[in-house]
Amino acid sequence: MQADARELTIIGGGLAGALLATLLAQRGWAVDVYERRGDPRVHGYAGGRSINLALAERGLHALRQAGADGEVMKQAVMMRGRYVHPLHGEPGLQRYGRDDSEVIWSISRGELNIVLLDIAESHGARLHFDHGLERVDFDAGLAAFRHHEIEVVRPFRALVGADGAGSTLRGQIGKVLPLNERTDWLDHGYKELEIPPAANGDFRIEPNALHIWPRGHYMCIALPNDERTFTVTLFMPHKGDYPCFEQVQDADDAQALFERDFPDTLPLIPALRHDYEANPVGTLGTLYLDRWHLDGRAVLVGDAAHAMVPFHGQGMNCAFEDCVALADHLAANASLADAFAAFEAQRKPDAEAIQQMALENYIEMRDKVNDAAFLLQRALELA
Ligand code: FAD
Repeated sequence: MQADARELTIIGGGLAGALLATLLAQRGWAVDVYERRGDPRVHGYAGGRSINLALAERGLHALRQAGADGEVMKQAVMMRGRYVHPLHGEPGLQRYGRDDSEVIWSISRGELNIVLLDIAESHGARLHFDHGLERVDFDAGLAAFRHHEIEVVRPFRALVGADGAGSTLRGQIGKVLPLNERTDWLDHGYKELEIPPAANGDFRIEPNALHIWPRGHYMCIALPNDERTFTVTLFMPHKGDYPCFEQVQDADDAQALFERDFPDTLPLIPALRHDYEANPVGTLGTLYLDRWHLDGRAVLVGDAAHAMVPFHGQGMNCAFEDCVALADHLAANASLADAFAAFEAQRKPDAEAIQQMALENYIEMRDKVNDAAFLLQRALELA
């Protein structure tokens, strides 16, 4: 490949976009990253969903390739097992392995994103915040972005879509190439709540664990944050038999549900009533596409290519693996089209297998309702 061809424009400066920018800039590529949101290092992180994430060995391995693991792990909280809180009976820790060599890590999405953006920039990637992709003219090689109130148009050699599950680039590719895009939406959603630190500033419950309150076809989980809080996620059906989001709508409904089914969490979540009404119900789905790239002009990675339900704890981990694979194929192939095709051929079957496993875990959780959280946890352990 010609030296002047080593230019890529990445759409989305989230988890995959920032890591890919680092991997490519390290290898001498000229990389521009266009991110719709403002700079989280200036304005604070405006993520809007899943405040923390379980990082497993697959994702950590990718971070090592970029030399980002050291900085990221400074913020991580080790989770050495599941801490199960039954409705009746004693809660207890079930370790993942014999010792701390077999653990997963809880990391803040916002902190992780900021660390990765800093590293990408330090390697020479150019970051353009407040630039939301709107339209692409693939023949002319021009991309139009919304920058505050104005439209700016930039030339590109090739685009990488790291712009998440609702990818605009995917929509633009779909206009010139049939992608056969379909999303299977789950009939379960989620809502996030918070356990703040104790009065003495310490964690309120065991910090080095993934906490689970299994309740059959619904459950709460809690992951620790390094500022000594926990992010609690309530997973529940949208509609149907009680409890479901349709029937548990306001603060009084939430209070009644938690008094009945999660009584031990009530002293832990003092702002339950406020959080329940303030925080939205998130939707969960699996995205399928027939293809991930438009010859040598555009390719999709991460959630933009293969969003999945979170019951395998692998969406980000899988997105990070994509980044390593794409960077490797770009190094090994003489043309962008060949690199994108080789990337798709390698990663699409893997991603589809992980999507399927995540879905099967959900179906098992729905149908074999006795210990839904155990199934989620088992999946996380396999990560
Ligand atoms: P995103 O993180 O969504 O980033 C996309 C970026 O693109 C964003 O910064 C966005 O602002 C930007 N963008 C969007 N549109 C445009 C545009 N038009 N122009 C420019 N920029 C744009 N994964 C795990 O591995 N472990 C877990 O424990 C885990 N838990 C989860 C829990 C929940 C409730 C959910 C919903 C997901 C979870 N995931 C987990 C999945 C994980 O969040 C995603 O797989 C991961 O964020 C994908 O990264 P991404 O960079 O592809 O997309």
